[in-house]
Amino acid sequence: MTTDPSWLEGGLRHLWAPYAQMKTAPRPLAVRATQGCRLILDEGRALIDGVASWWTAVHGYNHPRLIEAARRQLDEMPHVMLGGLVHEQAARLAARLARMTLPGGRVFFSESGSVAVEVAMKIAVQYWRNSAGETRSRFVSFKGGYHGDTFATMSVCDPEEGMHALFAGVLPAQHVVDLCDLDGLRALLGREKNMAAVLVEPLIQGAGGMRVHEARTLRCLREICDEQGALLIFDEIFTGFGRTGAMFAANKAGVVPDIMTLGKALTGGVAPLAATVASARVYAAFHDDDPAKALMHGPTFSGYAVGCAVANASLDLFEEEPRLHEVAAIEAMLAAAFEPLRASKAVKDVRVLGAMGAVELAAPYDVEAARARFIERGVFIRPLGQVIYLTPAYVIGADELGLLTAAVSEEAARLSA
Ligand SMILES: *Cc1c(COP(=O)(O)O)cnc(C)c1O
Repeated sequence: MTTDPSWLEGGLRHLWAPYAQMKTAPRPLAVRATQGCRLILDEGRALIDGVASWWTAVHGYNHPRLIEAARRQLDEMPHVMLGGLVHEQAARLAARLARMTLPGGRVFFSESGSVAVEVAMKIAVQYWRNSAGETRSRFVSFKGGYHGDTFATMSVCDPEEGMHALFAGVLPAQHVVDLCDLDGLRALLGREKNMAAVLVEPLIQGAGGMRVHEARTLRCLREICDEQGALLIFDEIFTGFGRTGAMFAANKAGVVPDIMTLGKALTGGVAPLAATVASARVYAAFHDDDPAKALMHGPTFSGYAVGCAVANASLDLFEEEPRLHEVAAIEAMLAAAFEPLRASKAVKDVRVLGAMGAVELAAPYDVEAARARFIERGVFIRPLGQVIYLTPAYVIGADELGLLTAAVSEEAARLSA
């Protein structure tokens, strides 16, 4: 099948793509269909997908169980609003997510990760107002972090990645500190009394460059927050649902946050859905006779029924299929393929955790040319600048994963030549 020029040419003149300088960005690849771990291009070729559509399609594309759940829900009831109404899938999903993350807690649904983080920040601010009558309006977050693209979430992103210079004067000023300097963080929280919460991507900072840190760091953050009286928010939008090898990074690290945000792989890449989970203690500050203590937030599609149905089906798959074993096998294969690259002078660092493998190059290179070579080789890999990473679906076969790692290794070899 060949491209119908009317939709592609006519449409591309009006489509504004994410994170792209439209004038110079290479033409996007037209995808006709997806299948397992493959993107079927309009021109007929298939590419092995190393990204899983921004890390969402963890069961592979078109998993029959997820498609069936979406179909069934669409037939019955595409959606009803959660204002004054409720439906089974949202209620069931809330109970399951709370049990898995913060038992006894409450789950607030939104439709994107950025909004889930906004809601977490709002909950943190209102928690202090409701529980102590305190105005705490600032957050601490970490360099290299990414929490979304809305204004509040940009303010807690890495200052460069979050384009703080471009939006100077518009973004609220937060404290974005070094994840290695925990003494500095302790001093900061001791000094500044208007800190609502500390916000971190646990174990892996994803979009900021696939940077990993140890569970010890998170245990230390928990200690500092308890000692200094700040809430701890884990943004598990990247790490949640198996990516680090455990269902959640919080489980893997053995650290319990006060608020957790979920998104991305929540529906296995089938529908947009995100969630903010508050612990029982945090929620208790809102549960009151005073209407002014209610959480004032309400996305139109909060608890989108098709999304919740698919998310429930995705959790069923995690229970019934050996996803976490598959992640462990992927971790071993990624480590075996990438660790030897440390010897290359073009490689600055290799990071593997769960179903995430990253090779950080030592120097800038022509990213567009590398992307084009990947496509030429039949793989879809989208480097984050000098960090070439793989975050495949957990169901990827060893042979497919081998083709992805070989493409990355060859690129590193080419750059050290
Ligand atoms: C992707 C991401 C977000 C933002 O989610 P969107 O759905 O793109 O708004 C927030 N935090 C983390 C850790 C993410 O990876």
